Order: sequence, then C-alpha cells, then structure tokens
Amino acid sequence: MEVPYYKETRVEGKYVPYGLLETVLKDYEHWYISEGFSEKLYPIPLYHIGEGKKCILIWSQMHGNESTTTRALLDLFKLFTQEGYPFNNCQLYIIPMLNPDGAIRYTRVNGNGVDLNRDAIALSQKESQFLRDTYERVRPDFCFNLHDQRTIFGVGDKPATVSFLAPAVDEDRNVTRVRRKAARVITEMNKYLQLSINGFVGRFDDSFNPNCTGDQYSLLGTPTILIESGFYPGDYQREQTRKYIAQALYVGLSYINDNKVGTEGWKHYLEIPENKKCFRDYCIIDDRNPQEKIFVQLEEVLEGDRIVFVPKLVSEDEGKDFQAHKTYLLSEICPWEHCDLHSKIPYILDYIRKEVENI
Ligand SMILES: [Zn+2]
Repeated sequence: MEVPYYKETRVEGKYVPYGLLETVLKDYEHWYISEGFSEKLYPIPLYHIGEGKKCILIWSQMHGNESTTTRALLDLFKLFTQEGYPFNNCQLYIIPMLNPDGAIRYTRVNGNGVDLNRDAIALSQKESQFLRDTYERVRPDFCFNLHDQRTIFGVGDKPATVSFLAPAVDEDRNVTRVRRKAARVITEMNKYLQLSINGFVGRFDDSFNPNCTGDQYSLLGTPTILIESGFYPGDYQREQTRKYIAQALYVGLSYINDNKVGTEGWKHYLEIPENKKCFRDYCIIDDRNPQEKIFVQLEEVLEGDRIVFVPKLVSEDEGKDFQAHKTYLLSEICPWEHCDLHSKIPYILDYIRKEVENI
C-alpha cells in the first residue's frame, strides 16, 4: 500500500503553542464547526471532515507538551487539501489541540495543573467537559487518542518510535469485543509501520484506569486506539516520527473506511512486543573500568519560543541496567588525561549540553 504524505511545513519542532496552530488552521476554516474553551479561555477548535456513515473522533495534545501527533494531524489536513478527502465511508471529528494552556507553557497538565488524562470521570476541567460533550454528540464508532511518550521507552534494543494500546475496560484486562476491534485496527497500522521501522513499534502497558480517557471511552463501548509517538534515533524534535504517525493514521482510517471492522485477526496485536522503560539518552562508560558508567537524560525546558534540552545525571537509584540512544567512552569526551568518571560529571554534562544545543 502506497501511503501519501504531505508535510505542513509551517509547524516544525516540538514546541507548538496555540498561536502558531491558530495561524495554520486559518487555511482549514472550511472544516471548522465549533469550539470549546480551556480553563484559561483559549479556544479548542473542532473540525469535521467527510460525510460517510462511520464517525471517528480524534483528539491530540491533551498533554500540552506532546505535539507530535498534532503535527501529524496538520499533515493529514494538508494531504486532504492537496489530494482531496479519500474516505467516503467515514466522517472525522478532529480536535487538534485539546490542551492549549499546557501547549503554550509546554506542560503536560492544563492551566490549573490538572492532568486531563486522569479527569475522565471527574470531568472537573473545561477541556475534559468539552471532549466528553463532543463524544456524546458525535457518538463515534472509533476514537483515536493521540500522545507522545518519553525517550525512555524501548522495544528490545530499539527505541519505541510508535506505541499502541487498545485500553483495558476492567481490572482483569479482559480482551473484550470492543478492545478486539481497536486491536484489529492497530494490527493494520503496525503491519504498515513494520515496513519502514521494523522493530520500532511497541505495545503500551494496559493497566486499567477508568480516569484515563481511552479506558473510559472503551468502557462506554467505543473501540479506542491510543497512539504514543516516541523517539526515533537522532530525532529529538520528532519530525521523522510525525511522518510515521500521519501515515499510520492514514492506514488505520483506510482500514476502517474499507472494511466492516470485526475481531478476526486481532491477536496479531499481542505479537507487538511490550514497551519497556529501558532507555536513557546517554551512557558514558569509563574505558579503564567498563563496569563504571553513568547515564544522562535530557530534560526539555521551554526558553522563549524554543525547547532547550538540558542534560541531567540519572540517579544511581534508578539502576544501571539501561540501554542508551548514544554511548560514549570517557576518553572520547576527556581525551587528555586519565580521568575519574565521577569527578568529571560537570564536564560531561557540559559537553552533552553543547552537543544538543541545536538538535
Ligand atoms: Zn500523553
């Protein structure tokens, strides 16, 4: 299957504040239908594309610092504009940014410090209420719940560039019919991704938490597909990953469009290996004593209108049993002397800080 891709080049990099999104969305006003408002009163626009019988609700960036899937949705908007909307049997309801307050401040939580993905029962926040109202109004046949995951997630010896979940609906994690239908669609998306990123796809932990939106909507009877965009080697801004997400979404939507989605074949979902928290960004190994190593993790800090990656030493309490996206021997960083790893930590952090200045 040839999957078309167009990039909405006006939005690039991890920091996608509401203002930038608003500028780009002006070009797609013909799909705008209504909007909600965040706790800090920023608009949360909702778009409607297509007229088919099957209804699909898609939302992104309910965590404000998770913009990869928002960029992927803009890429789909661009694709539908360039080539026409291809899904005759499906209508899409799309909320590109559920948490504009968090997006502006580059935080997971909303303007009141609440994690919207733990608010599916309480519905204490305007954003959660808007999503739920939209859900009730649309009565979707499928939902797509779009997120980013940290660079610590891996699948075997590879980073988890994309992870999927068909959320649980009970403590025992029974794979009910609703879950199987979500798993069936995931199977198709995974099959496609394996062609380009073989081994980089994971299955997310399915512990049940009805406060999470995906679990709650699955419980209400709607097959819900959680997608976590993750790290691809070298791609800290997740510009590679956005393409994989846009294409995987296209494949998932095509499958729903072209088929009466049943449960046959859903078990291939279980063949996707589980995500593990097995990576850190950097490992530095002492050449003279390879048992001695430290790990460094990059923290994202918003400075002005860009994200700065700040290297932080990983505490020994977290263990030493990690893989790393990049490994150095100490002598590569400190070539001029026999130096002791631990006494050189400030120097090493500074070295990495310079290396990641413009990633
Ligand atoms: Zn998230």
